[in-house]
Amino acid sequence: FLKGKSAIITGSTSGIGLAYAKALAAEGASVMINGFGDADAIEKERAALEATHGVKALYDAADMTKPDQIAAMVARANAELGSVDIVISNAGIQHVAPVEEFPVEKWDAVIAINLSSTFHLMRAAVPLMKAKKWGRIITTASAHSLVASPNKAAYVAAKHGIAGLTKTVALETATFGITVNCISPGYVWTPLVENQIPDTMKARGMTREQVMNDVLLAAQPTKAFVHPEQVAALALFLCRDEASAITGANYSIDGGWTAA
Ligand code: NAD
Repeated sequence: FLKGKSAIITGSTSGIGLAYAKALAAEGASVMINGFGDADAIEKERAALEATHGVKALYDAADMTKPDQIAAMVARANAELGSVDIVISNAGIQHVAPVEEFPVEKWDAVIAINLSSTFHLMRAAVPLMKAKKWGRIITTASAHSLVASPNKAAYVAAKHGIAGLTKTVALETATFGITVNCISPGYVWTPLVENQIPDTMKARGMTREQVMNDVLLAAQPTKAFVHPEQVAALALFLCRDEASAITGANYSIDGGWTAA
């Protein structure tokens, strides 16, 4: 249902972002993927998107801490894919430390990548969407857009900020056929999470099972991870014409975390 549409997904070289890219391409959208990683692995993913789904797939290396690179990526997608119909702001990093020890440069990096990059993306993409009277903007927030956890000052501030930014731009674009919504996942099974398990087993003398249930899933009542494909399925729904009345919303997909 997305044939003829083009999408930019930031931070889509792994995890949730890559799942978004695959889901959109599977529905016929051309995609621009973005993010860091091994050049050969990224090229493999890009080529696989084209080969599997018969769509155009581009890779742009824009660094989400650089406003000029973000604007250039949006302009490039518009020129080379023909339009910018869907933008998914997804790139994100984490840093964990108590506030009095939180390194200033880590605060700046988390705010830049997890929050300000979304402002720069929206700033560049909204005029293109307004001109076409159609657009879908989706931001990947987090359960931490609604609740806090200790030692995550920058991440929680950025994700609460994303929720507010999303609502604001939803109001500004409401009469232009554009919707702007947040998706707020709990713990999602991505390589990032999976790779923490062996170290935590060692550090705490726990079994794999204990790390998953007592550490990672302590806040998630279902005691089950969310899967990237489930997050992507929600994003796909928000791109449908049937979802045109949904704007300024923040959808939790967190196994009950924020209900507790
Ligand atoms: P991930 O580490 O697998 O993916 C992050 C992506 O962002 C990668 O493609 C990485 O290269 C990219 N990235 C990092 N810094 C960048 C920069 N400066 N410029 C461009 N790209 C950059 O993580 P993920 O788990 O897939 O997370 C994706 C998003 O989902 C993040 O915003 C994260 O906060 C959010 N989220 C994740 C979880 C979870 O449990 N995994 C839960 C809630 C929200």
